[in-house]
Amino acid sequence: MQERLLTPEPYVKVALPVPMRTLFEYKVPKAIALRHQLLPGMRLKVPFGKQTRLGIIVELCHQTEWDPEHVKPFTSLHDESPIMPTAIMDLCNWASRYYHHPIGEVFFHALPALLRKGESDTFRSETWWLLTELGQKIDLSELKRAPKQLAFLNTVNTHPNGLSPHIMRLHDLQNTTAKALEEKGLIQRELRHFSKNVEHHGHQKQVPPTLNNEQASAVNKLVQSLGRFNVALLDGITGSGKTEVYLRLIETVIKQDQQVFLLVPEIGLTPQTLKRFEDRFTTDIVLLHSNMTDRERLDGWLMARSGKAKVIIGTRSSIFVPAPYLSLIILDEEHDASYKQQDGFRFHARDLALIRAKSVNASVILGSATPSYESLHNAAQNKFQWIKLRQRAGSAIIPSMERIDLRGKTLVKGFCETTLEQINTHLKRKEQVLIFLNRRGYAPTLMCHDCGWIATCQNCDVNLTVHKRANKLHCHHCGHHEPLINQCAECHSHEIVTIGEGTEQVETQLAHLFKDTPVLRIDRDSTSRKESLNNITQKIHEHDKAILVGTQMLAKGHHFPNVTLVVVMDADVGLFSSDFRGMERTAQLITQVAGRAGRASKPGHVLLQTYHPENPAIESLCTLGYEYFATQGLQERKTLGLPPYLHQVLIRSESVDEQQSYLLLEQVRLEAEHVIHHFNYPIQVMGPYSAIIVRKAGQHRYIVTFKSENRAPLHQLISQLAKSLEQNPLTRKVRYAIDVDPLETY
Ligand code: ADP
Ligand code: ZN
Ligand code: ZN
Repeated sequence: MQERLLTPEPYVKVALPVPMRTLFEYKVPKAIALRHQLLPGMRLKVPFGKQTRLGIIVELCHQTEWDPEHVKPFTSLHDESPIMPTAIMDLCNWASRYYHHPIGEVFFHALPALLRKGESDTFRSETWWLLTELGQKIDLSELKRAPKQLAFLNTVNTHPNGLSPHIMRLHDLQNTTAKALEEKGLIQRELRHFSKNVEHHGHQKQVPPTLNNEQASAVNKLVQSLGRFNVALLDGITGSGKTEVYLRLIETVIKQDQQVFLLVPEIGLTPQTLKRFEDRFTTDIVLLHSNMTDRERLDGWLMARSGKAKVIIGTRSSIFVPAPYLSLIILDEEHDASYKQQDGFRFHARDLALIRAKSVNASVILGSATPSYESLHNAAQNKFQWIKLRQRAGSAIIPSMERIDLRGKTLVKGFCETTLEQINTHLKRKEQVLIFLNRRGYAPTLMCHDCGWIATCQNCDVNLTVHKRANKLHCHHCGHHEPLINQCAECHSHEIVTIGEGTEQVETQLAHLFKDTPVLRIDRDSTSRKESLNNITQKIHEHDKAILVGTQMLAKGHHFPNVTLVVVMDADVGLFSSDFRGMERTAQLITQVAGRAGRASKPGHVLLQTYHPENPAIESLCTLGYEYFATQGLQERKTLGLPPYLHQVLIRSESVDEQQSYLLLEQVRLEAEHVIHHFNYPIQVMGPYSAIIVRKAGQHRYIVTFKSENRAPLHQLISQLAKSLEQNPLTRKVRYAIDVDPLETY
């Protein structure tokens, strides 16, 4: 009698975390086929070279492309059921094809770190604490000698359903205290499965404000498209109440027992924003960001996959988190460059959001005060629904913008007199002033006044930044740092000077100029410790008048109601950028920073210091606003044949050996020209050319660009080139990367 196999297919195709653009085939051992039904999405162990590795089954098949004699059996099965749902596997397959990235790396990127390492996909259990009968009756004054135990007992008292480890952490309560109370018989422990104890926030739900007409109309339109594929661009000026619109839609999704993703830029999720969400909903919110332990991330992932978590808030990689009842994806600040991964697997979360939503009939909202040109283009072509909010919510009004002509003016510490006068006026009214300068450190350059020597990085072709507080010279490109010197390395002169200003210097100088005003700095250096951003923002809210100095960190998500004046110290930075997206980025940044002014009842004003007040870009941004500016910018891109009118793919190389780095791309170009000629593809090739900073962290970097109006031939060409690159012996010494729809082109 024939034995009945639970898995009739004799072969599996497996994704492994290796940089090869292929799946690997293995035989299904008969003993396993008899006892298990294999399915795509299960993990297994396979022999690979001399090692055994963990992989994911992507396909089961009846035949193999290889000589069956040479196909090895896999070693063992790791899961009883798939850990990865089909929707996510489809997304990985699509992403691997579209971005020409090795499929195994894509699948493994999509999994939480612990699952990549073989951890089981089950919820952990944790210890909760409950009062015993004795604990309920005890006279608390008996514990007044043990304040920690008293505090613990009081907290257990206010959580009649049990005190979770999460709440313990929030209240800074220790396990040792719990054990002491347990010994006294006042509390008892209970082991609970993490998932089964969805913690309802004890507090009252906050009452939402009444929507204004624009918001109400936006919510109406957006609610109608829930449950089907639809992409809406929510193009709302800063302070127009986009977040309030999101909150209403999320509320609807929760009521329908569906799930929603809110994607945020990397540093966009301020504690303020999170609090707004937690205050509004009593349901569980799963947060996924880089500041969590691997276990916390896995718990969040499992909560989302189980469908228990209705709201999932996270950065770009969360787009791979399973959610079986997904009906809405919101991308906040959709123009933000951090949605694109800039190394390794270079995907864009916005593109993946669209693909994923389409496959499960969910709808997408792309929100921004300064939408990307790509999205504006799609909206103008009616591919996206275009919803505009042009009024500020509540009683706030739109700030006015003014150019300050710096030509021929005497500058005091980087400010001209008009600017200083205005700062003074606002401070006198007990209001706050925000100074924006997108350059951290004390000064961008250290120079010898006698011989002209400049301090440069030993690994990169860039100048070192002076950090006076830390007494260091820092490379902002590779992280190298060295002690700050007071003597020239060439001629040993002591006449060492700094050139230009960074936020650290501006902070110091403003503190001199405005002696009785607190000056607070917000940049990566001042907020590097975990709690410091919180502390600084708290100080900002405590003071009436204050000066805030900061980089682009200030542009995102913050709400400082008492800021009425914003000064952009150097509005010209983007004018001469070598990247064609330079102007778009600068305009977005300036508009976002300007939007921090006048967000409450007092009107706001914005000053742009510039040497080019008549430059059409600066002028149109200042007088006509971002929408008009972007329309002009798009027109220019069309004329010049740039994205979004053409599609781009870059291939980058880097190596310690400059010649080889160039040579690899030279070979790529030759092959490309051959293929293009042969198939008569409408594709332009440029390069190899060197990156603007040729040497970075010791690597010499080159680029070839491919452009076409037509995606299909472009992708065919790149597939072909990728195949050859994998075989190219030069890649042993030269690393390469394929960058589809690059955001940075230098
Ligand atoms: P955006 O996300 O567009 O910058 P927010 O949603 O953060 O705007 O709203 C800006 C401010 O206005 C917030 O303080 C918010 O609480 C408030 N707000 C939003 N909508 C309303 C409304 N309809 N009535 C009153 N205040 C509102
Ligand atoms: Zn010198
Ligand atoms: Zn460097």
